[in-house]
Amino acid sequence: MPACIACNSAEVEVFMDLGKTPLANKFLAPDELGLTEPVYPLRVAFCRACGHVQLAEIVEPPAMFDHYLYISSASTTLENHLLSLAGQVRVRTALQPNDFVIDVGANDGTLLSGFVASGQRVLGVEPAANLAPLAAKRGVPVDNSYFGAETARRLRETHGRAKVVTATNVFPHIPALADFIAGLDEILEPDGTFVLEAHYLQDLLDAAAFDTVYHEHCSYWAARPMAALFARHGFEVVDVERLAIHHGQLRAWVKRKGVETPSPRVAALVADELRRAMDTIAPFHALAAKAARIRTELSALLDCLKAEGKRVVGYGAPAKGTTLLSYLDIRADRIEWIADRSPLKQGRFTPGTHIPIVAAERVLAEMPDYVLLLAWNFVDEIVSQLAAYRDAGGKFIRPVPEVEILA
Ligand code: ZN
Repeated sequence: MPACIACNSAEVEVFMDLGKTPLANKFLAPDELGLTEPVYPLRVAFCRACGHVQLAEIVEPPAMFDHYLYISSASTTLENHLLSLAGQVRVRTALQPNDFVIDVGANDGTLLSGFVASGQRVLGVEPAANLAPLAAKRGVPVDNSYFGAETARRLRETHGRAKVVTATNVFPHIPALADFIAGLDEILEPDGTFVLEAHYLQDLLDAAAFDTVYHEHCSYWAARPMAALFARHGFEVVDVERLAIHHGQLRAWVKRKGVETPSPRVAALVADELRRAMDTIAPFHALAAKAARIRTELSALLDCLKAEGKRVVGYGAPAKGTTLLSYLDIRADRIEWIADRSPLKQGRFTPGTHIPIVAAERVLAEMPDYVLLLAWNFVDEIVSQLAAYRDAGGKFIRPVPEVEILA
């Protein structure tokens, strides 16, 4: 067992084993079906020293992030969220025109475009070369690299120090945390601010969202281990907010130690986590037990429907669907096909389980008896998209937090 990626302690204990799975976003083209797919263990561990929840086995980032198909601006909700974040950062850090802002994991430049509009100098740091042209269209220059001490030193020599560094949905991807924070130290002005957003562990526990575990996410952050991590490297979490987007996120504002008195919200959130014993492994054993129960119940339901001759299909092919389908070993004999609105996924097959992905229109055209909701975090949006299916007698199966039939 490797040491904790946050505190380096060896007291790291696996509490959930989701089996061996392929990378969650490696949807297969038809001509790739006969090839051997690399699979990696997907086991989640708890550090008894600092409380950080993390993957027991880390896949090296280039296998996942050198080419990236998830585009921020593809979701209107996410685009609006990022532009609103730019506004909040500008106000809170009193940004002036010409102040320098860096976004790590800049994707298609959506967040930084919010700063371009108000005259700040911006630079995206983004390892996926396929995204840079999209950012350029928004007037956002991109440095094609992974952020860390070496990149930050190089960027400082060329561009000077930054007033603000942002990272949304990126911090959980970083295995080399000390090097990342050393990079912040290289590039941030003395009173500079780092703002991060990451899925939040309390929300994951509440939703029993075990399927949001996949190799891209090597960390599952709570406030307490995060605050301890930054404190060990001369920084301080000075404020936190809980956000509803992406089924529950944590936004943290981080500065060098002593620059700003932390908000009482930080201590309050840490106290919340301690109240539910997140400094112990108990709530995580409970999560693993829920995942196992969902596996038993959903498998039994699908077997029963199959025995009755019912047709069952899936709706939505998100990355987390890969974890759910792999963990339950659901293949095309139980889920005929999965409908997805993204043309990039249609015509492809789910990683590992090889279920074909088809156009969303197939649901209404063929009226299967049941639709399994794999993108369950958008249940309301999907059920309303499929109102005609439901009105005609179609039924939905929701897998988490409980297996439930929505008739
Ligand atoms: Zn630790």
